[in-house]
Amino acid sequence: MAEQVKVLVVEDAADAAELVTALLQGGGYDTRVVGDGESALSTARAYQPDLVVLDLGLPDTDGLELCTSLREFSDAYVVMLTARDDEVDKVLGLKLGADDYITKPFSGREFMARVGALLRRPRVPSASERTVGDLVVRPEARQVIVAGTEVDLTKIEFDILDTLTERPDQVVPRTALRERVWGTEFYADDHVVDVHIANLRRKIGGPQKAARIKTVRGVGYRMAEVVAGDA
Ligand code: CA
Repeated sequence: MAEQVKVLVVEDAADAAELVTALLQGGGYDTRVVGDGESALSTARAYQPDLVVLDLGLPDTDGLELCTSLREFSDAYVVMLTARDDEVDKVLGLKLGADDYITKPFSGREFMARVGALLRRPRVPSASERTVGDLVVRPEARQVIVAGTEVDLTKIEFDILDTLTERPDQVVPRTALRERVWGTEFYADDHVVDVHIANLRRKIGGPQKAARIKTVRGVGYRMAEVVAGDA
């Protein structure tokens, strides 16, 4: 039997939460319900839902903000529940990663049809995440994770790594890197680039420090697939 589709319902109004949960369970979905943003994020991390039904008006946070936070680590489909039509404009205007929205009140049939249609939609793998060996770069969240641990980088260090991991199998010429990170106004010598690369190597290092960023002599830099623990 196929694994049950997991749906996280984030709704502070008990009656609405009950209604949505009953509909989903009737449709064969596994459900969890939370009533505020903080629990929504912690539950989403642990439960890893396939779909999140998200009420726009929550006691501790805005549903839109929550949607943005959720998107930093989850590829779940998000259906936004909105109370008024003018809120729909807000949802659409901000393009915050909700896949669909439903205005309250809605019929059970409409709700289930929307959920079903969404789940049948092929999910494009997160373009916002790049993996090179055990190094993960999430440009939208400006997050770098090395062997499962988040690493703090300066803005310039992040921009360098972001550029190098865009096409990790290609050499990025020093001039291209300088233009991308510092802009075309940058006339300082290569030493500045070297210093930032050195700091970056130290931070994302691990057992094979410099090896994650290869120097291609006379040309530039290229990423190397390194997994901590490799000999
Ligand atoms: Ca609400």
